[in-house]
Amino acid sequence: MTSLRDARPARDASHASGFARLAPSAAASAGGRALAAAIQQFDAAADHLSLEPGLRQVLRSPQREVTVRFPVTLDDGSVQVLTGYRVQHNIARGPAKGGLRYHPQTDMDDVRALAMWMTWKCALVDVPFGGAKGGVAVDPAKMSSNELEAVTRRLASELEGVIGPDSDIPAPDVGTNAQTMAWIMDTISMHRGYSVPGVVTGKPIALGGSQGRADATGQGVLYTIEDAARRIGLDLRGATVAVQGFGNVGEAAARLLHAAGARVVAITDVYGGVMDDLGIDVPNLKRHVEEHGSVAGAPGTREVTNEQLFALPVDVLVLAALEGQITAANAGSVRARILAEAANGPVSPDADPILRENGVVVIPDILCNAGGVIVSYLEWAQNRAALAWTLDEVNERLQRQILAAAEAVSARADADDIDPRLAAHAIAVERVAQATALRGLYP
Ligand code: GLU
Repeated sequence: MTSLRDARPARDASHASGFARLAPSAAASAGGRALAAAIQQFDAAADHLSLEPGLRQVLRSPQREVTVRFPVTLDDGSVQVLTGYRVQHNIARGPAKGGLRYHPQTDMDDVRALAMWMTWKCALVDVPFGGAKGGVAVDPAKMSSNELEAVTRRLASELEGVIGPDSDIPAPDVGTNAQTMAWIMDTISMHRGYSVPGVVTGKPIALGGSQGRADATGQGVLYTIEDAARRIGLDLRGATVAVQGFGNVGEAAARLLHAAGARVVAITDVYGGVMDDLGIDVPNLKRHVEEHGSVAGAPGTREVTNEQLFALPVDVLVLAALEGQITAANAGSVRARILAEAANGPVSPDADPILRENGVVVIPDILCNAGGVIVSYLEWAQNRAALAWTLDEVNERLQRQILAAAEAVSARADADDIDPRLAAHAIAVERVAQATALRGLYP
């Protein structure tokens, strides 16, 4: 199919690029493992597509990587030097797009992996973006709002030449939110001398954010679970659900599944976990978290750990926390019928064959959690056209777009007799490869 005729042929593509050499050395860190997983998934898709070696090299490596180190003054007057990253994995199909993460484990390899997954996610759901990710190695729970604002504004200044509505558009991710985006938008706008709403998505609605963006990832998780349930003849009303993670994505997914009539029996967050066989009242639990900072100890529930939650005999297991949660070590304990990857990379490649063997239907991350970036695209499009759509309009477009991708994945899995993850990656890699080949090599 597609080829880069002029790309220099590699005798051994896996060792020819400097990037490939970087990956194994870092495999011991969480970020290194995430990157190794992303590359393994890409290689499986590239093999399946018999991707030409030149294209394989291009798509396997991030296109642009930025590391910045910058000082911030903390509330106690001391100065701390922080490290921030932004990686644009591929921009063949449009401006780079992806979240900005504040988490102590954030490192370059983690951001590389997450940027690569963004490229495939945007291609799979057919939004006109490439893939990017950014992050700062910091624990936002230990910082005041003033300190977070200082970090964010300084980071935005450092990335001034990199981000922009036509080049690279950040959005919320783990540890960041609409307020973070407002600070970035304001910083870039102050520098330019006029408002630049399209430089970020996931902004507050008052600043040009979109209806439905805050819940969009959870909404997409619900739509893809409904779709998977339909395909296996599972009625979601009364179905049992366990959710790992109660942040932006986990909370919304749990709340929307609860509202759809599912029985959410267990939820964990960073500090603990709760369980109630009769079903957790999710809106009540949210109020408990607002008061106490964690789901732990919510009245009428008993304690549950992540490992116990993974092993519950539920209909749907939603993973809405971090990368690498299910591995070969614990995949055998999963008894759910559907495993929804609401986080990025929550299942490591060595777990996939075990889940498949046990008949667990996995909704791959680049499909399951794509609702966020779909509505980011809708927000960006509204900003460009100076329009504001209603919540119904946004959700209707979101549903149409994510279900079209789900149908494509299912059809491809059937046609090629492969699992949904490989099908999703094959579709995405094929689209990016085609765009890359059409653009050709410059000069
Ligand atoms: N951080 C989200 C993700 O991982 C959203 C990215 C975006 O909207 O750009 O998909």
